[in-house]
Amino acid sequence: MRQRITVVGAGVVGLSCAVRLAESGLDVDVLARDLPPETVSALAGALWLPYATEPDTPMAGWARTTLDVLSALAEDGDSGVLVVPGYLRSRASGRPRWFDVLDGTDVLPVDPGTAPGAGQWQLRVPVVDMSRYLPYLRSRLEAADGTVTRMSLPRLPDRGLVVNCTGLAARAMVQDSSLRPVRGECAVLAAPGVRTWRCREEPDRTSVSYVLPRGEQVVVGSTSVPEDGADRSRSSRVAALLARVTELVPELRDAPVLHHQAGLRPERSAVRLEVVGRAHSRGGADAVVHCYGHGDSGITVSWGCAEQVTALVTERLN
Ligand SMILES: Cc1cc2nc3c(=O)[nH]c(=O)nc-3n(C[C@H](O)[C@H](O)[C@H](O)COP(=O)(O)OP(=O)(O)OC[C@H]3O[C@@H](n4cnc5c(N)ncnc54)[C@H](O)[C@@H]3O)c2cc1C
Repeated sequence: MRQRITVVGAGVVGLSCAVRLAESGLDVDVLARDLPPETVSALAGALWLPYATEPDTPMAGWARTTLDVLSALAEDGDSGVLVVPGYLRSRASGRPRWFDVLDGTDVLPVDPGTAPGAGQWQLRVPVVDMSRYLPYLRSRLEAADGTVTRMSLPRLPDRGLVVNCTGLAARAMVQDSSLRPVRGECAVLAAPGVRTWRCREEPDRTSVSYVLPRGEQVVVGSTSVPEDGADRSRSSRVAALLARVTELVPELRDAPVLHHQAGLRPERSAVRLEVVGRAHSRGGADAVVHCYGHGDSGITVSWGCAEQVTALVTERLN
């Protein structure tokens, strides 16, 4: 009998790993406390933008792979992915280092004389409607005979090959105190005229403000507030967010706010992506592949991580 692989977690990371594993011919079961629309992943904006990525790092490679996969998915009208032209206002002097990830993709400096703001770049990157994309991933998994079952686990299964994609919950699941919750907030505004995305790196260099077109609406984001730190009230956070995005797109000044969404990002100094054998195990196919701690980049690096997880699992099975 073929060994089944258990993926714990049905956010963008768990589903991408499960799809890759299942489409490479393996039998995959996803177990998750929250199903795709209830996950943190469902609350993301979401823009492919590895703005904090250093060249020649695993993150850069994962982001590159993900760019290729998402760009191809944009051809499929059911995926919820579009490749959209937009403008990035960068804080770097000169060409941002992370542009190396873009490789063949066209990036044009915008003439400060003819466009708002200096240090501005025009580029085309994937923008993902998570309300369509997560169900799309689930149906792709099921088409490859994978299963998704709601189940809240007190700990990771202690037998077999398990892929741990529990996001922030890995903190308790595998006692990883280096994971910390960072609150991110987006708002959806009625704004039928906006067709390009706009994004600005904020002075702290660890967050961005963005406006993403979505049909007759825009998604604006995002806040980045450690849960354990001093915090302003939600209303003042949202007011500050709206002020920032109105600087980016002045037409949003009077746009009605339709709703807000907020979630806790799984922040870690680096993504944990590694295979760990079990103390009691004699065989290679009895191990845990950890894949969590993606902070504000879960969508941006999802397919690259899924590919590496699949390579680690396949290695173990062989
Ligand atoms: C407002 C906001 C905007 C964002 N914008 C972007 C963006 O533009 N671009 C980008 O790349 N990223 C963005 N992010 C970050 C991105 O959303 C995260 O990095 C990503 O969602 C993490 O995915 P995940 O699958 O690891 O975790 P999650 O989506 O949290 O999924 C974790 C899964 O594990 C399951 N689980 C946990 N505990 C258990 C248990 N005990 N038993 C069973 N199952 C369990 C959960 O139920 C869930 O299914 C944003 C985040 C927020 C909040």
